[in-house]
Amino acid sequence: MNGCGCSGAGLRPVDEAIAALMDFVPPPPPVVRVDLEQALGRVLAEDIRSPLDLPLWDNSAMDGYALRAADTGADGARLRVAGCIAAGQSSQVELQPGETMRIFTGAPLPPGADCVVAQEDCQADGQWLQVPRVDKGNHVRPRGEEVCVGDPLLAPGRKLRAQELGLLASVGFDSVAVFRRLRVCLLSSGDELREPGESLAPGQIYNANRFSLGALLRSWGMEVHDYGVLADTLAASRDALSLAASEWDVLVTSGGVSVGDRDCLKQAIRELGELHLWKLNMQPGKPLAFGSISGKPWIGLPGNPAAALVTALVVARPFLWRAQGRDAVEALPATLPAGFDWPAPNSRRQYLRSRVELDARGFACITPHPQQGSAMLRTASWADGLAIVEAGRTLRAGEPLPFLSFSELGA
Ligand code: AMP
Ligand code: MG
Repeated sequence: MNGCGCSGAGLRPVDEAIAALMDFVPPPPPVVRVDLEQALGRVLAEDIRSPLDLPLWDNSAMDGYALRAADTGADGARLRVAGCIAAGQSSQVELQPGETMRIFTGAPLPPGADCVVAQEDCQADGQWLQVPRVDKGNHVRPRGEEVCVGDPLLAPGRKLRAQELGLLASVGFDSVAVFRRLRVCLLSSGDELREPGESLAPGQIYNANRFSLGALLRSWGMEVHDYGVLADTLAASRDALSLAASEWDVLVTSGGVSVGDRDCLKQAIRELGELHLWKLNMQPGKPLAFGSISGKPWIGLPGNPAAALVTALVVARPFLWRAQGRDAVEALPATLPAGFDWPAPNSRRQYLRSRVELDARGFACITPHPQQGSAMLRTASWADGLAIVEAGRTLRAGEPLPFLSFSELGA
């Protein structure tokens, strides 16, 4: 896995490159209103304050009986069952001393009651109920316990997941303001590329990046405008990039950014706009390039499929998430013990496709796949995430190592 074949000199450290990219994040897309049913995965564009208390009123946390705690002594009490309140009902009748009411989970406490006894803790005998001693507030969910009117619930920039949709519904929202989906143009550079389903002539391969990158962008809630395959000529690159820049928010390409004679995307960008950055200190992913055309950002991912995927997750992701209006874009690595030795330092920071596995004692440790070639997507499919080995570092099994799970990276 070692031996990157380059010195690391002249390569931008990854964190520095990400910070440099962030300076070019465009303002978030315009705000649109969507029904709650359509809001999953969208990015909130408004401050949400609660118009309600939650719970709306004191209610029962159990199926049981509502009563007055003061009615129960050390030996409990024998109380008259004066009625029944199910969820969805409410009682206006004041509970009198010596009385109890049958109550079900979620139903409002009747006026006068201040506690609930679970049905399994008492004995019913016709209209009479024997209860133990009960404290005030027992099994009661008080009004406003979770949320009070005016409480801030969610802020702009929050990606809406199932739990946020449930929370919004629980305080009565049926629609929310979100940022319009970021419109990303995706181009796959390479004369050798054919689409799955087509036949392959000698020298041709299937276009994998179109599917992996397109899927990532869509799963991040973005709108993908797929321009298909871009021929390896300067003229074709110029035409496609300037058209794309006139139409979409961000341009993402794969391939055509390395050092080959046919890698003409950087030259096209220089002619049409500005190349801000090229070549990162990472493996896989060294050839990543970044620039802009008429103010539209362009992210040039490497062509090798594993490198394209890793750079999309590590470098393009925070930029694109922020451009979509998201607030929290930094991925937080977990620290886990390495399940392997890394005896020879590498000049580039390694992002090793790895799994979290259990060692003989049942403790989690990081196991990288033995094959880490930049073209190998199979090992990305095998992996749970990326272990980071810093440039110049050697490692013994058991030493702590940062691990970015694919779920943390939104993959
Ligand atoms: P390039 O950076 O264009 O030289 O591409 C590097 C390697 O990645 C070459 O072997 C390409 O054939 C391969 N490659 C480029 N784009 C894709 C793609 N969309 N799908 C699969 N392989 C690709
Ligand atoms: Mg190419």
